[in-house]
Amino acid sequence: MDIQFLGLGSAFNPAMGNTNAVFTRKDHFYILDCGETAFGRLWDSPDFVGASQVTVALTHLHCDHVGSLASLISYSYYVLGKNIRVLHPLETAVQLLDLMGIERFCYRHVPQLSGGGEAVSFESVTVEHVDNMVCFGYIISSPEERIYYSGDARFVPDTVVSQFLEGSISRIYQDTALKNGDHPTHGSLDYLESIFPEKTRNRIFCMHLDSDYRDLLREKGFGLAELYRPGAGGNCL
Ligand SMILES: [Zn+2]
Repeated sequence: MDIQFLGLGSAFNPAMGNTNAVFTRKDHFYILDCGETAFGRLWDSPDFVGASQVTVALTHLHCDHVGSLASLISYSYYVLGKNIRVLHPLETAVQLLDLMGIERFCYRHVPQLSGGGEAVSFESVTVEHVDNMVCFGYIISSPEERIYYSGDARFVPDTVVSQFLEGSISRIYQDTALKNGDHPTHGSLDYLESIFPEKTRNRIFCMHLDSDYRDLLREKGFGLAELYRPGAGGNCL
């Protein structure tokens, strides 16, 4: 899976865009979160417009992860004639869309996505982020590989760390702040350095950056996430 990012910023770092990502599998377009800036990036993208099916996987309901979801759904339905799928383990995503005036026939809510002929499956993993919302990361699997996408999360779950170190998860995309306050809600660079040996760090991709410290990440041996190139598709055929 060639995951490409629409942006790599945290909620308070709009200069780097929302940390939302996309990839294409055959003619199916996947969107990982859909924050305030995502719809503006995607509405005329050939990968989105030309896809036979679109799935948006939501990690949680903070604005930088769902802020333009309602516009994406209504544009898809009314303009493109697409009934997109919204993956989120809880009904809260539907309740949010109800409040935003999105009628339920405009999209399909799927609480899980695995098996049943799916080209790519998503296994949700509960992660620690904030006290007032249940938040998820996903282990995303294709026949070729399994990767982990954290959403916003303070820690990488133990099961993911051990599967990564054993080799059954090939890459980790992790929320990583450079400066965390007294009550951290995000992962940190210090934390990642403390649990992942240097030789594995080129398969760990830091995202949701609170400032542009990509040079430091490069120096420390972490992987650098790829930015989205519309039409170049993130296609992994
Ligand atoms: Zn968040």
